[in-house]
Amino acid sequence: MADFHDHDKVITDIAYLSRELYRNLVTLCDDIGSRWTGTPGEEKACRFLKRKLEEYGLEDVCAERFETLSWYPEKSKVEFKPELNVVGEVKSVPLIYSPSAEVEGKVVYVGHGRPREFELKKEEIRGNIVLTTNKAFPPFTSVRVTIEDKYRKAVELGAAGMIVMNERNMGNLCFTSPIRWLRKEEGTYYPIEENAEIPCVSVSKELGERMKREISKRSGELKAAISTKTSLKKVSSYNVMGDIKGEEHPEEKVIICAHYDGMFLSPAAIDNASGVCVLLGIAEALSRLKETFGEKTLKRTLRFIAFSAEELGLKGSLAYVEKHRDELRNVRLVINMDELAAGRLKGFRLQFPELVPFFQKLIDDMGLPLTSHLEPFIDTSGDQFPFTLNGVPIMLLWRWRYMGEYPTHQYTHTEADTLDKIELKDLPEYVATVARCALRVVNTPRERWPATHRPREEILKLLEKPVTPY
Ligand SMILES: [Zn+2]
Repeated sequence: MADFHDHDKVITDIAYLSRELYRNLVTLCDDIGSRWTGTPGEEKACRFLKRKLEEYGLEDVCAERFETLSWYPEKSKVEFKPELNVVGEVKSVPLIYSPSAEVEGKVVYVGHGRPREFELKKEEIRGNIVLTTNKAFPPFTSVRVTIEDKYRKAVELGAAGMIVMNERNMGNLCFTSPIRWLRKEEGTYYPIEENAEIPCVSVSKELGERMKREISKRSGELKAAISTKTSLKKVSSYNVMGDIKGEEHPEEKVIICAHYDGMFLSPAAIDNASGVCVLLGIAEALSRLKETFGEKTLKRTLRFIAFSAEELGLKGSLAYVEKHRDELRNVRLVINMDELAAGRLKGFRLQFPELVPFFQKLIDDMGLPLTSHLEPFIDTSGDQFPFTLNGVPIMLLWRWRYMGEYPTHQYTHTEADTLDKIELKDLPEYVATVARCALRVVNTPRERWPATHRPREEILKLLEKPVTPY
């Protein structure tokens, strides 16, 4: 591998000393705030990101428009019959793709919502309201049970509505999350285009625990009413992108991406102002690098993409892949950054095994105490997934999964995902490490780049494989 020592000095200098990183975070989180798809906040963020990429000297900077459906919460109310003596407000937040509805019924608590817990209460669920938690890895089980899984089960058993208590935070905080993620049809995945069947809202841990106590006090006879108003609207949304062109094979690309949209109830600092500001930091560092060392610095092109509509189910990245399908075979690697500063950087997560030793050597040669790690399953939860589905090699940053998560990370998808939750000291390390890696990957000669694109059938087969847990 070529000697990049002088290059690393320039990158590290910008990563650690540029004032842009913090300023950009303040702009996105405090000045702009919520960046929910199809709102003025998203538009402002789009313009801001475009301006920044231009300012850093990237080429072909643009905001690529796509038409999509966004979902908006208008009202959410939970009432109890007879009324509970609750001190303060009974807060609730609808989950994404919950329809407008008014339902009432007996509250049936199904614990963490494992299939067996649903089976035990099967007879009681029809026409009533399921109460469960948002825990994805319930005790006594080795397989992930998502909110989408729990919701499907509730619908299948004829529930009238569902209430999810927020097990992750104390402090009277509700959360939100999509109850539908992607639509799978004929071997491929599409964005969600309609609301789900029954209303679904979150309540705080404190209210959920109170409901559990009331259920036992009243021998199972707690009644609740859920009333929601939400809407689904056609909107224009924008992926913002720009290139730093490579000299030798400009058509071959490494994509560095992060979503800039965020949940409607917060400034979405960790999820994902952190990722998109690191993306800007890498763009600034590598653009300056090219300015300093000239045209020959990069052999292949680096494309930076800030995706929108991720929180609605990867709508921005699905639109990008659809539009740029012909170019995908020339994408060497996609590096997706989501929820950084959720834990310190521990290494890389890869989905194709041949890349594991390649990145471990790269890390070792840079003298960094990081690990290159093979994922046990295809991760469908981030903007890398539409690329994986098309066989493109991807890399994710290993921060907290499955240990070492910062407690501040627990606030994602709640109103408390604010700038103060970001571990600022970690961000320069993310910028420097990813930028140094990207520099090496774009300059690796073809014969030494080990990854090959996969046919879609192979990926679909891997997706069907049951998850092997740690
Ligand atoms: Zn995210």
